[in-house]
Amino acid sequence: MKEFEGKIAIVTGASRGIGRAIALKFAGEGARVALVARNAEALNELVGEIKGAGGEAVAIPLDVTDSRAVADGVNEVISHWKRVDFLVNNAGITRDTLLMRMKEEDWDRVISVNLKGAFNFSKAVIRQMMKQRSGVIVNISSVVGIIGNAGQTNYAASKAGLIAFTKSLAKEVGPRNVRVVAVAPGFIETDMTAVLPDEVKKAYFSNIPLRRFGKPEDVAELVAFLCSDRASYITGQTFIIDGGLT
Ligand code: NAP
Repeated sequence: MKEFEGKIAIVTGASRGIGRAIALKFAGEGARVALVARNAEALNELVGEIKGAGGEAVAIPLDVTDSRAVADGVNEVISHWKRVDFLVNNAGITRDTLLMRMKEEDWDRVISVNLKGAFNFSKAVIRQMMKQRSGVIVNISSVVGIIGNAGQTNYAASKAGLIAFTKSLAKEVGPRNVRVVAVAPGFIETDMTAVLPDEVKKAYFSNIPLRRFGKPEDVAELVAFLCSDRASYITGQTFIIDGGLT
């Protein structure tokens, strides 16, 4: 029997990168997966891929900052599949620049997608998880939220916010057997890091003791472990996965 047979998962930012790898990992372990992002075409393609491999998935195209759409999307999942076992708040963006040049809209958008998006989804699933007396929420933070990074005050603040959000929500819902954890990746090869200048990539690389960048699948393995019963006594914590970078 596959580890997540009968489980229902929601993954935000599933259209590419880390979220896509997490969705594929869950589906491969037998979970039914609701895929969230704005790009409906990419989501439908992934639904096709998962179904082609014998799994089950639905596409829920929406913007995570739209609380109404999020509530409707989650209700759709619950009325269809009757429960929610895992929520992975993975959707995230960067709008990098030094603070003195940062526009208010760059600050607002990053906080809104990365932090409020997680609030919207967590709020939408929490009643159901508490009723079930089981569930796991995984928030994808970043090492930047722990150590900081020049040019990323908005992003770092959003990712540090997710860590504090994780600790606080874990305290609220622990008594109902709902776990909340955060994962803080270092440099993972996705579209988000592909756009960085070569000298920035080189600088990161030389500081990674394992001498390779992370792959989305590396993060997906950790997320799957944290959602599994093998991690049933873990909550409120943040797990760094960075090849030794920090
Ligand atoms: P990515 O390849 O750029 O993917 C980002 C995902 O988020 C896409 O699926 C995107 O889909 C979705 N998204 C963005 N804005 C959205 C919105 N408003 N509503 C719904 N979905 C939205 O990035 P990634 O590298 O996989 O990153 C995934 C997460 O890991 C992010 O939270 C990121 O901060 C975090 N992280 C990444 C790294 C890294 O090195 N790559 C390191 C640490 C942490 P659409 O564009 O279709 O909406």
